[in-house]
Amino acid sequence: MSIASELPFQTPVYLDNSSTTRTDPRVLDEMIPYFSVQYGNAHSRSHAYGWGAEKAVDQARERVAALIGCRDSEIIFTSGGTESCNLAIFGVARMYEEKGKHIVTTAVEHRACMDPIRALEREGFTVTYLPVDTDGLVEPSAVEAAIQDDTILVSVIFGNNEVGTLMPAREIGAICKARDVIFHLDACLGLDTEHIDVDDFGIDLMSMSGHKMYGPPGIGALYVRRRRPRVRLRAQMLGGGQERGFRHGTLNVPGIVGLGKAAELCMEERADEKVRLTALATRMKDKFFAELDHLYLNGHESKRLPGLLNISFNFIEGESLMMGMSKVAVASGSACTSATLEPSHVMRALGVGEDLVHTSIRFSLGRFTTEAEADFAVEQCLVAARKLREMSPLYEMVKEGIDLSTIEWKHD
Ligand SMILES: *Cc1c(COP(=O)(O)O)cnc(C)c1O
Repeated sequence: MSIASELPFQTPVYLDNSSTTRTDPRVLDEMIPYFSVQYGNAHSRSHAYGWGAEKAVDQARERVAALIGCRDSEIIFTSGGTESCNLAIFGVARMYEEKGKHIVTTAVEHRACMDPIRALEREGFTVTYLPVDTDGLVEPSAVEAAIQDDTILVSVIFGNNEVGTLMPAREIGAICKARDVIFHLDACLGLDTEHIDVDDFGIDLMSMSGHKMYGPPGIGALYVRRRRPRVRLRAQMLGGGQERGFRHGTLNVPGIVGLGKAAELCMEERADEKVRLTALATRMKDKFFAELDHLYLNGHESKRLPGLLNISFNFIEGESLMMGMSKVAVASGSACTSATLEPSHVMRALGVGEDLVHTSIRFSLGRFTTEAEADFAVEQCLVAARKLREMSPLYEMVKEGIDLSTIEWKHD
């Protein structure tokens, strides 16, 4: 599909910011010289190319540290969110497995955390998967109850990538501090609107991703606490000794510069952006709910990423709805991960019913989403939804007042 438009904005309208965000032009501007003129290796100590690159990396590290209230030396640059999560989980497991082999996590993690934890489970670690309520929240007291003498790590997602629910990270952090267990927060989503201070939240390790916060793809960071306690990690690759030996390999200087600028912009704009996105998403939600019946908002009503709306359109197949609104780029709300059309582990953990799970769409708004684009997306979606409902015999029956739960379906 080509990207063009007769409309006053580019189409398809991009409402898939939870998958990836556009690199902010202000970020890109700062990166370009590090490809074109200032292209040294940050570890070259013998010439100005290297010194310039090192200085830029130092500044970026300061900016990322400022965003989350830590010291510069506690930021480790990686290739992205997935690497950060893997380094946190495998790094702790390999370093502390003598001490214990129990991990606490939740049923709604991103695969960047879930799959490494499952791999550890297969090799003999034991894992407690905490359930969530119908809003996607984990109960902090359940974390407390799950911690054992041999627990070496609690790993929890912050902003859920499918339903948007924000976990009670500060409460969980306080419990981990009191019980002296390392706490990893997967904060790949949410840093553009939420203020996380690692000391205030009791966080020991925190994963971040450049392309989810208007920085470039291919860069991420892991916060690693150095004081009270000093967290140690086993590196997952061997090499040249960069990043305090936690993450070897030549630094991605342009990417790091971009992540630094992205962090600075998030810090300056997160408060206003939270207000703006909340208003914009609420406007969309209110229009949908005013125009259509039998809709359900998945995830928590208010404890959520402000720009993410996961809505089930009962009696409509999500895939058909997406095809019917080709001028809007959205994601399926149940993120089927395979060809079997199995609903995602997240929707199952929230207990979303079989009837609703395949009807949901994820709209994720972002820094560049305008009101005109949001209104256009709603209109496009409403037209497609009405058309599909007109063709739905189930919806017809419900409108005639038939209670579907009382019907005995004939299988032959
Ligand atoms: C995107 C994402 C990741 C993975 O980050 P990448 O930079 O894409 O590797 C991990 N966790 C969450 C919650 C995410 O949204």
